[in-house]
Amino acid sequence: MTDKILLLPDHIANQIAAGEVIQRPASAVKELLENAVDANATFIQLIIQDAGKSLIQVIDNGSGMSETDARMSFERHATSKIQTIEDLFHIRTMGFRGEALASIAAVAQVELKTKRAEEETGTYIEVENSVVNKQEPVALPNGTNISMKNLFFNVPARRSFLKSNAAEMRHIVDEFTRVALSFPQIAFSLTANGQQIFHLDSGTLKQRIVQLLGNNYNSRLVSVKEETDYMNISGFTGKPETAKKTRGDQYFFVNNRFIKSPYLNHAVMNAYQEMIPRDSFPMYVLFIDLDPAQVDVNVHPTKQEIKFEDEKIIYAFLQAAVKHALAQFSITPTLDFDLDASIQQLPSIQQPFTKQKEDATASTPIFKGFTQKNQAHFIEKSDSKTAGLKHWKDFFESQKTGIANPETLNQTEKPSINPRHQGFAFIDDIVPTQLLNTYIILPTENSFLLIHQQAAHERIIYERLSEATMGKAIATQRSMFPLTIELSASDTVLLEDLMPDLQNLGYSIESFGKNTFVVQGSPADVEQGNEKRVIESLLEQYKNFSSDMKFSKREKLIRSLAWQQSIKPGKTLTEKEMKTLAEELFKCDAPNITPNGNPTYMEFKKDYLEKVFKG
Ligand code: ADP
Ligand code: MG
Repeated sequence: MTDKILLLPDHIANQIAAGEVIQRPASAVKELLENAVDANATFIQLIIQDAGKSLIQVIDNGSGMSETDARMSFERHATSKIQTIEDLFHIRTMGFRGEALASIAAVAQVELKTKRAEEETGTYIEVENSVVNKQEPVALPNGTNISMKNLFFNVPARRSFLKSNAAEMRHIVDEFTRVALSFPQIAFSLTANGQQIFHLDSGTLKQRIVQLLGNNYNSRLVSVKEETDYMNISGFTGKPETAKKTRGDQYFFVNNRFIKSPYLNHAVMNAYQEMIPRDSFPMYVLFIDLDPAQVDVNVHPTKQEIKFEDEKIIYAFLQAAVKHALAQFSITPTLDFDLDASIQQLPSIQQPFTKQKEDATASTPIFKGFTQKNQAHFIEKSDSKTAGLKHWKDFFESQKTGIANPETLNQTEKPSINPRHQGFAFIDDIVPTQLLNTYIILPTENSFLLIHQQAAHERIIYERLSEATMGKAIATQRSMFPLTIELSASDTVLLEDLMPDLQNLGYSIESFGKNTFVVQGSPADVEQGNEKRVIESLLEQYKNFSSDMKFSKREKLIRSLAWQQSIKPGKTLTEKEMKTLAEELFKCDAPNITPNGNPTYMEFKKDYLEKVFKG
């Protein structure tokens, strides 16, 4: 037997290691931006070609590197940021492992130009496959200008794993947004394929949030600020009215590093309890600063999870800080669009929003009248809403006879209660009744059905759209007045990605350059005139599904549209509308569930009701 173990050649070892740090163009963007931040730059430019697949360039006006350092920087474990193990526990820089440049140089063609203020000339270095090909003096302004070209040019398998340009660009915009949010004092710009997507002047955090996340937040941010010896919390959370159906705009930074933490998110959600509808997500950009010794920095740099020495303290503190902040602001702004001036003067509406105030305010007739009219602003008592329903569910659970319990149905089961198959038959001249502007009661021969109007409509639209994508394209109605809409940079990328499918589904949208689109037409049976809202809420809804990898892009789009076009609770329906809805529902292949698997209706059978009422 001969020995089998060989040492891997350096360039292969480097490529393997690089796979951990550089997974996609966005990971390189993050590393290069962080290096520029660590170099104390005050202006950082990011230039992208081809979603980073052909070029990622970062130009900063930071400290620059000496000739020797420039060359050293590409060595694995070459860092200026720590020297001893002890340093690890005081680390304040974004990087410290000395792996990023080595990794990038292993999987791309890199050109580095860098100059320190104290030197006359700078250094130019070209690296490819971890090998320095060229090194020479060069003239340039103080700072560093690094270009990384043709990512994964030497690892075709990885290159072929990259997603569409739109998808990779979205990741890049996400990383850029995270870094730009955590350093509002630094000016940033982002240019992609020659078009400037962001130009962010140095400013306050609030200005930065508005520039990056949208003007909507301008007057709807609540400042959070609590300081103790142990930790500081600062930043902004959105007023309850900004809560969305997606968790998109939620950012935690620990010592300025973006992290994801379901645990801390829970703390914030808890602080909002009873102020926002369930399953909606408030916006927040929160900075937690604490002694680095309290944080486990050894967690891998590309991982966004983090370990704290004492999580529970942070949870409690964060929750209190957000609660406190929310209690400070008056609820007036939540109400002010629709309430007239005399109502706004009322003390119950002017006062700060505390728990007691909420209770007191919520019971006044003005508040009730208002909230019923304006669902979006409804500050809900989470228990009261579902209590009734839950009661019914418990009731069914304990009586498993004769009832179609929607809880036990799932998507794969064929509906057992379809008039075409078995179960019930509709009686002639049925008169449906609407309840609470949300449910339809429909008598059948031997039972009655309680139909949820939105759930039913969602199912109907879902099946129609599914058919459309499988051949029958949906007719487009040209708008008389094409509407121009302007989107955020990340939504622009997303919409461009979805455009071909939207076309099939009856939307005619044209890109007009730089975040602007013109809606030329929409599906013939969708209400005209509010395309802006329609598109925005579509994107919002789509992002809601985006984390769900199990669905294709098209499936997500169809689900989003079905939800978005469906009639919502609160809409009064005519008798004819109710009948049509019921008829259409029972023509569906799976009438009993929504695309998400929620029930569309319940059946109450006569036999069963008789049993119950006879005791
Ligand atoms: P790390 O950031 O973990 O130290 P990197 O591989 O990202 O490792 O960078 C290696 C070293 O190169 C850094 O420690 C720093 O000294 C230097 N460096 C990298 N980028 C820059 C830059 N933009 N400006 C100045 N120095 C830089
Ligand atoms: Mg680094």
